[in-house]
Amino acid sequence: MNILVLPGDGIGTEITDATLRVLHAVNANHELGLVFEFADIGFAALAKTGTTLPDEVLARARECDGILLGPISHLDYPARDKGGVNVSAAFRVKLDLYANVRPARTRPGLGRGHAAMDLVIMRECTEGFYPDRNMHAGSGEFMPTPDIAMSLRKITRHACERIARRAFDLARRRQKQKRVTAVHKANNFILTDGLFLEVTRTVAREYPDIELEEIIVDAMAARLVRDPGRFDVVLATNFYADILSDLASELSGSLGLAGSINAGETRCAAQAQHGSAPDIAGRDIANPTSLILSAAMLLEWLAEHRGLRAGEKAARSIHNAIDSALAEPKERTHDLGGPLGTRAFAERVVGRLA
Ligand code: ATP
Repeated sequence: MNILVLPGDGIGTEITDATLRVLHAVNANHELGLVFEFADIGFAALAKTGTTLPDEVLARARECDGILLGPISHLDYPARDKGGVNVSAAFRVKLDLYANVRPARTRPGLGRGHAAMDLVIMRECTEGFYPDRNMHAGSGEFMPTPDIAMSLRKITRHACERIARRAFDLARRRQKQKRVTAVHKANNFILTDGLFLEVTRTVAREYPDIELEEIIVDAMAARLVRDPGRFDVVLATNFYADILSDLASELSGSLGLAGSINAGETRCAAQAQHGSAPDIAGRDIANPTSLILSAAMLLEWLAEHRGLRAGEKAARSIHNAIDSALAEPKERTHDLGGPLGTRAFAERVVGRLA
């Protein structure tokens, strides 16, 4: 199986190196047969080719079995016509990786609240409030005068339906509370969130064994802090889910623990939930757990969708190794109050894989 590795910007190279150490180890231990190929995106690609996302990279991504996608410093990119393409958005939209699956789980001794949590946020990521992906041509953000800025939000029945189905399928597979919490603000966004809710309720009828609950997004933020343990699968449109997942992962201990995949029907990219963290780049202090866990999720996806033998087992060994390392305060990275740097933490995880 071919895995395309795209280190990206900021802490990207460091957390990708750390993740590859772990992937090389499980590749050998479980005879996965993973073959890694590398390409530049972001500033490295801009310097060489004049764009942050060369066409060949996207073409290669279409051909390979899985993608390890590093973080990008999109905020610092030049304008689109000067080569500054939002790589993350382009992957999600052009490869139709519509489901951004974002787990958040507390571990012993970690977590900012007193309550345990084990939830997954199912985020739709191809439409919504994001101006770079909700228009056929042009941008969804515009200024009619220098003093007025406007933004459009796109919500479609098609996108709501497929992400809702993903959420209910996941709730069924997880065998936990068997509940999907749909997050909305239909009291204000009557048409857009109204459509999201209507479609979600229709899909819910196909899953009589799963409870559907509906919560307004502002109340959800408060409930997440007060009682995170009561949530199982959280379903939300793009922007709400993006914000709530940062909250959930920080509640679980750190943004650095936040793994995720972007998955479509036939393709999948592992990507940490956080950004490129330029404030800590190049110092060997970033927590690579997020990308390592994302890689484990990719292995699970490859097992299910591409028949990767031992993919599930290899992923489980990564989860166990991470849990075991994080259980020791002296085996943690700086963001969790520990003494270890990025490389040293990855070595501890590798040491625990066997
Ligand atoms: P970007 O513009 O790429 O989104 P950002 O710094 O605005 O970058 P994040 O990268 O998500 O946003 O970082 C938010 C904060 O969390 C930063 O202070 C960053 O240092 C910290 N952070 C993010 N990822 C990690 C990580 N893996 N390990 C430790 N700290 C992290």
